[in-house]
Amino acid sequence: MKAAPFAYCRPDTVDEAVDVLAGGDAKVLAGGQSLVPVLAMRLGRPGTLVDITRLPGLDSLVIEDGQLHVGAAVRQRTVERSDVARAVPLIGRAMPFVGHRELRSRGTVCGSLAHADPAAELPAVAACLGASVTVRGARGERVVPAREFVTGAMTTAVGADELVTGVRFPVARAGEGFGFAEIARRHGDYALAGVAVRVRGDEAVLAAFGVSDRPVVRELTLDPDPTEAGLRPATDALAAEVVDTDGDAHGSRGYRARLLGVLAAREIVRAHREAQA
Ligand SMILES: Cc1cc2nc3c(=O)[nH]c(=O)nc-3n(C[C@H](O)[C@H](O)[C@H](O)COP(=O)(O)OP(=O)(O)OC[C@H]3O[C@@H](n4cnc5c(N)ncnc54)[C@H](O)[C@@H]3O)c2cc1C
Repeated sequence: MKAAPFAYCRPDTVDEAVDVLAGGDAKVLAGGQSLVPVLAMRLGRPGTLVDITRLPGLDSLVIEDGQLHVGAAVRQRTVERSDVARAVPLIGRAMPFVGHRELRSRGTVCGSLAHADPAAELPAVAACLGASVTVRGARGERVVPAREFVTGAMTTAVGADELVTGVRFPVARAGEGFGFAEIARRHGDYALAGVAVRVRGDEAVLAAFGVSDRPVVRELTLDPDPTEAGLRPATDALAAEVVDTDGDAHGSRGYRARLLGVLAAREIVRAHREAQA
């Protein structure tokens, strides 16, 4: 099947892009790795595509005020290979799991956030770290905390007439450790269940993904020397609470909860060791 006809627009400025979006029936085109299949299957029929990939000002990948700023046109592979981005180690841990390298060479970090697949890795990383997403529309600019950004499966706080211009991730501080793991049927597939973890002192923050309609963030207080076995009752209870998919051909709700309980305990211990080192 081919995409339904659409107009293609490549604006020269962010303001121009926002004007086109304000006109209605338009969609942002970033890396196209999710949008193009949607168009090809005719699951969406926007009248206009607004290509933002060459928009000046959306290509920054810099550290400012203790945060890594990733502009909306920055590709996942660029971040994966960037020395600057190593200041946020959790991104580097998660990125190899985002589809395949070929997809990452086109897909953008902000496009992944905007697409908001419940099993996507980067929205969970953003939620775990307490990142913030900058959104621009006809009424001006606003900043949305990543934990409030995804409002449901494939649904975000971004209006149809708004554009994500960038995301800011806090850089790692001394004494922090990180963990990331997921289980997928094949490498590059979306996860059946996964977890991103940040540990500092006796506090662990977890973002579970693939198990609900959005990343689910929970905090745990740790013993001084946590072990996987010691953590399992807490992570199993957490998993039983947060996993709310009905299950599908790839895995039942119970199976996903079991995966999450195991992965969470393992990654907390890993992150705790890193934080202590
Ligand atoms: C076979 C396959 C496997 C994949 N596996 C994974 C996986 O394991 N994990 C994973 O996370 N992803 C996976 N993906 C998705 C892919 O990696 C995309 O990178 C990502 O979902 C979207 O990024 P993009 O830049 O290509 O966005 P696009 O496809 O261009 O856009 C996606 C959606 O976001 C909107 N959008 C994009 N940018 C903005 C913006 N700046 N402002 C407002 N709206 C915007 C678009 O309008 C569209 O609705 C997979 C894709 C394929 C085809």
